[in-house]
Order: sequence, then C-alpha cells, then structure tokens
Amino acid sequence: MRLASPSALDRRLMLELERLQAQDLYRRRRRVDGAHGVAITVDGRACVNFCSNDYLGLAADPRLSEAMSSASKRTGTGSGAAALVSGYNSEHAKLEEELADFLGCPRVLLFSSGWAANLGVLRALFRKQDRLIGDELNHASLIDGARLSGAAYTRVAHADIPAFQTALAASDGDENLGVVSDSVFSMDGDLADLPALAALSRRHGATLIVDDAHGFGVLGKQGRGAIEHFLMAAPDVYVATLGKSLGASGAFVAGSEALIEYLVQRARTWVFSTSPPPAIAAAARAAVKIMGNEPEHRQRLLANIARFRSGAAQLGIPLSPSMTPIQPLLLGEAAKAMALSRNLFDRGYWVAAIRPPTVPASTSRLRITLSAAHSPAQIDGLLGALGECLASPVSADCV
Ligand SMILES: *Cc1c(COP(=O)(O)O)cnc(C)c1O
Repeated sequence: MRLASPSALDRRLMLELERLQAQDLYRRRRRVDGAHGVAITVDGRACVNFCSNDYLGLAADPRLSEAMSSASKRTGTGSGAAALVSGYNSEHAKLEEELADFLGCPRVLLFSSGWAANLGVLRALFRKQDRLIGDELNHASLIDGARLSGAAYTRVAHADIPAFQTALAASDGDENLGVVSDSVFSMDGDLADLPALAALSRRHGATLIVDDAHGFGVLGKQGRGAIEHFLMAAPDVYVATLGKSLGASGAFVAGSEALIEYLVQRARTWVFSTSPPPAIAAAARAAVKIMGNEPEHRQRLLANIARFRSGAAQLGIPLSPSMTPIQPLLLGEAAKAMALSRNLFDRGYWVAAIRPPTVPASTSRLRITLSAAHSPAQIDGLLGALGECLASPVSADCV
C-alpha cells in the first residue's frame, strides 16, 4: 500500500493543531459510560461530576426515561421530516402548549437545540440595515446568529448598563434595533440586569431578546427562570433550552402569537431542519411536570449552592460572585486550569477547565457546577480536595 502524502488541507490543520497543543488549548473529550448524573463513570473511572448543566438532576430521573421509552414505543424514533412537512407530532404540540402554560405566555415554538433557536431567531428578525447590541460575554450562538443576520453588531462591555444606553442612543438611525443578552452568563454564573435592559429597550424602541438557557428551571420561585426571578414582564423574545435543567434535549422560543407565526414562516434553522424525535418531547413534558409539582429539587439545589459557597469562603477559595449553580474559580493561564482539573480528577472529582476561546484570554477557570442531586458529603469532598490542591505552595503538587 502506498502511503498518501498529507493533503494541503491536512498540512494546514496539523500546523494549527500543533499550535493549539503548544498553547495548552488542545481539547479532548472524556468518555462517559452509562447514565449522565452526579455519580458517573468517566474514562472507565467512577467519579463525582461537578461540570454538568443538569442542575435539577433530571437527566437521570427514571420518570423522564420512562416517558421517553413509552413514547418511543408509540411514536418510533425519528420524526421523519421538518415540522412544516410531516414531522410535527402531537407530543411536540403538547410540549409547546404546556411550556406556554407554565410560563404564562401566548405561544412557544420548539427548536432542535438552543444553538438552532438563537441562529433562527436572529437571522429571521434582523437584516443588514438593522443593529444588534449585545453583552460581550453573550453565548457564541447569539454572536453567530447576529453575524448570520448581517445586522451591525455592537459589543458592549460586560454588564455595563450605561454602555448599553450609549450604544442605543448612538443607534437611532438604524431601522430595527435589538438588545440581546444571556440572562445567566454561562461561564461566569452572574445575572444580566434584565429589568434595566428592558427599560432601556422600551425607551429606544428596541426588541429585547433574552437567552435563559441557564436560568430556566433554576431561577424564580417556581423555576420559571429569569423573568420570574426579576418579577418582570416577558421580553419580546425569550429563548430557553431543554437540555440543561430539564434533562432532555432541544430548546424553545416563547413570545407573542405574531412572533411565533413569523418564526414558523421565516426561521431557517426551524423550517429546514428535521423536528426532534417525539419521544424527546415526551421526556421534556415529564420534566416540565416535575418542575411544576416538585419545588424540592430547586430548593435542594439552592441549599447546595449555599453550602458550597460558605464552605469555599471558610477555606479561602476565591470563587467569583455568583448566586447560580455556575460557580467559577478563576485561575488565569490555561495550563494552571488544566493542571488543577487533572488533579481533582485524580481525586475523583470531575470539573472541566474552561479555556479560550470559550472565555477571554488569561481568564481560564474551573467552571464548577452544582446540582440538586449532589449530597452534602460530595460537596464537602470537593471543597476538601480544592482546599488541599490550592494550599500546596504555588501548588507544585496540583497546579
Ligand atoms: C447551551 C447554551 C446554548 C445552546 O443550547 P443547546 O441546546 O446546547 O444548543 C445557547 N445559549 C446559552 C446561553 C447556552 O448556555
């Protein structure tokens, strides 16, 4: 057999991969065997998972898998087509209705992922002559959606309300104005000042788009998310996902009748994409029901967050300020974050290191996330391991 010499493409990619490796920015997957959850088997080893977005512990709730398997017996696996063709199942319709009821909003439209929802919404609602104004720490899907729309994009310093005001005041000539923000910033865990953004948007006639991927199910008395937390009116466009707190997969947009009907006509990531399996909608329906009926999961999650933060304060572990399940420990250089993550893994705790380009340069971190399913002993165990690692002198041992 003749060995083919690397193609021009492969040569270019290999150079790029070497560069990533030299900068400690090379990424690898760890492989999970069996179910996702707090107690998890990773690369063949049992450990405690502190880097999941399954905040309520529903991904491993038998009632979801039961709903999913019984639905799949009735509906099969694939939906077979896009929703406008023949892929819209009554499981999808019921989930949309139940989410609208749960949120108290007129209509909901189901997407196959949060990424697809954000791209679809921004591309449908904004054009070249328009302008979007967004927080610099917005999720990558919002940034790509804004790019895809062709609208001018003004990046505003993180959580800087006066800067939003300045950007809005400077944009009065643009045809349509949009303000777009995460509610809970996914790598920092802090909250956008949504009431202030809503007031500014109203004053300047801008459309407010909120991505509540990490707030839905977690924030608010009943887990209805950031809107309930702030006791504010719903934004023009509300996006949340089903793959995080709800333990399922997919996402949805909530808003007015006109918004949803317009997206049905024009959101390309929805129109031209196969609708999700009906059985996954059935699992999400079970999750919505649990969220509505069993506030104890949220309450346990909040207690776990409080336990972790107070334990960290006692040990002098410098967490970023955050009241959400996302508790970042900023470390700076990528190599440092990687070393600490590796060391914790050796001690049985799985906490992913987050590096550029997911976060800005020199802000590599451990993104510790808490779940309702963590026991107090597991939380104390992680705190102990973190304390030991961080205490060793310039952490020769760990960092
Ligand atoms: C995870 C996430 C998304 C993407 O949702 P998927 O369903 O995973 O595609 C969008 N926005 C934010 C803020 C997220 O954290």
